[in-house]
Amino acid sequence: MKLEGIHHVTAITGDAPRNVEFYTGLLGLRMVKKTVNQDDPTVYHLFYADERGSAGSDITFFEYPGVPPGRTGDGMVHRVVFRVGSEASLDFWQQRLETAGTKLERSNGSLVLSDPEGLDLELVPDTSGDEPLLAEHPEVPAEHAVRGFEGVRAYSRAPEESTKLLEEVLGFDPARDGAWAARGSQRGGFYRFDAPPGERPLSGAGTVHHVAWASPMDEHEEWRRRVDEAGASPTPVIDRFYFRSIYFREPSGVLFEIATLGPGFTADEELETLGQGLSLPPNFEHLRDRLKDVLTPLPDPRADLEA
Ligand code: ZN
Repeated sequence: MKLEGIHHVTAITGDAPRNVEFYTGLLGLRMVKKTVNQDDPTVYHLFYADERGSAGSDITFFEYPGVPPGRTGDGMVHRVVFRVGSEASLDFWQQRLETAGTKLERSNGSLVLSDPEGLDLELVPDTSGDEPLLAEHPEVPAEHAVRGFEGVRAYSRAPEESTKLLEEVLGFDPARDGAWAARGSQRGGFYRFDAPPGERPLSGAGTVHHVAWASPMDEHEEWRRRVDEAGASPTPVIDRFYFRSIYFREPSGVLFEIATLGPGFTADEELETLGQGLSLPPNFEHLRDRLKDVLTPLPDPRADLEA
């Protein structure tokens, strides 16, 4: 039994309209689901991914309107790494992002940038051999498009305390540079620790809330049992409608989720129109009328591009 790499990464935005513009307009991802935070339905949960809304490509944001910027530190994911086609793709992105005024740092084999709220992203040439998970964007040639997650980097003061859970319970394999690889039969992604800065961490805009690892549908209960037996106190299985989830903290403090590879985002929308309307899981549908007046108005970058 192996986890199939990263399922999704969830972060926090205080400025949802700008967040939509950045991830869909500039980075070229597709908004595949516009729904509400199931723990607070007055605010959005936005999902950006490839054309099909695939696990492995899905960066999502909880909206907390106006929330102050956070500060990454011990026990937090501080960088989300995406694959792109090649070194030439890094040249493409460097030019595109610089033109847009994005702060970035280029080196051989890497382009590090910050999203408008300070979340660090990195683009690296794809050497995985995994299927590229691509979104379509008129200004982004397919050969340069973002292809899904390569991995995440987190801060930990005591990474050795995580080793047992990561390797013996979750089946991560030690990989180069002190990283671990979570690789299943279809996909893989890495998890890696860096030494934390001295400052006290603070959750807020531009910080990662949790990272979810992907499980085949029929192995999910078994993953819960394993994590539970290891003493990591997983939540019960929670039905998120688009997938089922368990949550627990790994010893560094980073919040982990294990999410199923289905049913997926076409559970309540057609593939062609994913993310265009407001999707509400059945038990939230009765709130629709009220939410229309409460939720932040958002741009529709695909409409803007086609105009
Ligand atoms: Zn999640």
